[in-house]
Amino acid sequence: MKDVALVTGSSRGIGAAIAALLARRGYAVCINYLEQREKAEALVAELRKEQCVAMCLQADVADRAQVDTMVRKVEEGLGHISLLVNNAGIARNQQFQDVAPETLQRIFAVNFGGCFHCSQAVIGPMLKAHEGCIINISSIWGSHGASCESVYSSTKHAIIGLTRSLAAEFAPSGIRVNCVAPGVIETDMIQALGNETLEQLRQEMPFRRFGTPEEVAESVWHLAKAEYITGQILTVDGGFLF
Ligand code: NAP
Repeated sequence: MKDVALVTGSSRGIGAAIAALLARRGYAVCINYLEQREKAEALVAELRKEQCVAMCLQADVADRAQVDTMVRKVEEGLGHISLLVNNAGIARNQQFQDVAPETLQRIFAVNFGGCFHCSQAVIGPMLKAHEGCIINISSIWGSHGASCESVYSSTKHAIIGLTRSLAAEFAPSGIRVNCVAPGVIETDMIQALGNETLEQLRQEMPFRRFGTPEEVAESVWHLAKAEYITGQILTVDGGFLF
């Protein structure tokens, strides 16, 4: 029997790299998506061709009922979830004074609410099994302020708070909770910044390049296997912020 991993927001970008790496290294993986079904199905097909075990499910992680249904279907299709990677996230580049209440609500509901709902949905069986691993994807903006990303940055700070609190609460039950804080990673998410800003940013990077989704995936793998590490925030930013 393979260990089972659920990776939220894994139809593309960092989540897709995490799901692919976990599947190629032996996990049975559920790929979750919101809208891009074709990308999720294409990744499942690619992984199955390599004899990996993978399935995909649509669910909005901001919606508790959809999360519960997704978790039930993963358990039916693949078995008990031993690794949850809370990766799904959205960002909006806006000046603070322009942020609408609906934007505030939606970004919190997806980024923080998603981590909360998915973690609650898997924790019961993990407690019964007396083992399990949750890895949350925060950001370097979860421990530093980000101009024009006040809401995004606040959600990522909240995710770090949740990580540390759940790590403290569940360590005695054999469950580890950690966090990866990526810097600037080459995905669709950063395209909204525009070419000029991206080029300026690239020049500020110590390695003069952005990170890759695969490099973030390796750090998730490390935390998934590090049996004596919990409550930690692993920054993967190429030395951008110390
Ligand atoms: P991305 O390329 O924009 O991909 C976002 C993924 O999340 C997609 O698979 C999308 O599904 C899914 N998603 C969005 N809303 C969802 C919802 N409500 N329910 C379920 N899935 C949802 O983003 P990314 O750059 O890979 O970022 C992944 C994570 O890393 C996010 O938490 C982000 O904040 C964090 N991060 C990214 C960077 C960076 O520089 N890229 C840096 C630090 C942290 P669909 O494809 O179906 O839309």
